[in-house]
Amino acid sequence: MICDVCKSREAVVYQPHTGRRLCKECFIDDIRQRVKKEAEKQGLLKANKILLAVSGGKDSLTLADTLASFIDPKRLVAFNIVEGISGYNRKEQAEKLRKYLDDLGIELISTSFKDSVGYTLDEMVSSARAKGLNISACTFCGGFRRKLINDAGRQVKADLVATGHNLDDEAQTVIVNILRGDVKRLVRLGDVPLKLSDKFVLRVKPLRKIYEWETTMYAFLKGFEFQEVECPYISARPTLRAKVRELLYLIEQQKPGSLLRIVEEFDKISELVRQHSPKEELPTCKICGEPTSYGREICKNCELMIQSGLLPQ
Ligand code: SF4
Ligand code: ZN
Ligand code: ZN
Repeated sequence: MICDVCKSREAVVYQPHTGRRLCKECFIDDIRQRVKKEAEKQGLLKANKILLAVSGGKDSLTLADTLASFIDPKRLVAFNIVEGISGYNRKEQAEKLRKYLDDLGIELISTSFKDSVGYTLDEMVSSARAKGLNISACTFCGGFRRKLINDAGRQVKADLVATGHNLDDEAQTVIVNILRGDVKRLVRLGDVPLKLSDKFVLRVKPLRKIYEWETTMYAFLKGFEFQEVECPYISARPTLRAKVRELLYLIEQQKPGSLLRIVEEFDKISELVRQHSPKEELPTCKICGEPTSYGREICKNCELMIQSGLLPQ
């Protein structure tokens, strides 16, 4: 089968949402072009410094490689966090990640939960369990990762923080927030980043229009050996998101392009809602001084640490 774009090389990938068969080169080029288009809207092409949150998984490798194809790698700094999950945060993986980023000319900085927060994720989870609390690992993990990424962004004076969230993640987030009726969180999504506090480095998702299977294929075709071990806490992920994920896959299978349409249509709605919503600055946490959600005096991270007995009340 010949590639539908260059009409000369052998096709290796079928792209259901466009109905095209593509060769390796045209597929890689297609992904880079689409990431560039989204990056442009999100302001990445004009930024002086961008912090890339990388885990060593396929999405973060695809993020670093695609961005480095049209942004000077000296303007990119990769940031990796070791959560402290036994059997998951492996040394060899960290070494591989460092090598890939070195080859791309991107500097890598790292930290761990243990060094920055004082406890590994495993320790946080067991302390919460010992107190009889049912707080999932992902709740601790997501909150502290967000904080450390923001701290690192400020530290390197980044204009933007880019994460590797893909289209599947983004479509799930849209639907989950609709189902929860969380309008304020919904409005924060959208293709143009929204600044809610001077303490927040703006977060962007350059891969938010790239299917997960495409980020996997891209990493594979580029020869990246990515982290394949699943996080042992994955089964504890919030069930609503897992159900939405399943449902969206069914819909996408029957009607390819559905996920893309959900996110594209949502962007239009978000733009309209933003025009009519007053801009509110986020309040700051009484304990750590970091921004917190509307209506809260203490941020979620500090609250979790107090509940788990890891921070005095
Ligand atoms: Fe963190 Fe949960 Fe992801 Fe594991 S599955 S890395 S605990 S967010
Ligand atoms: Zn081709
Ligand atoms: Zn706090």
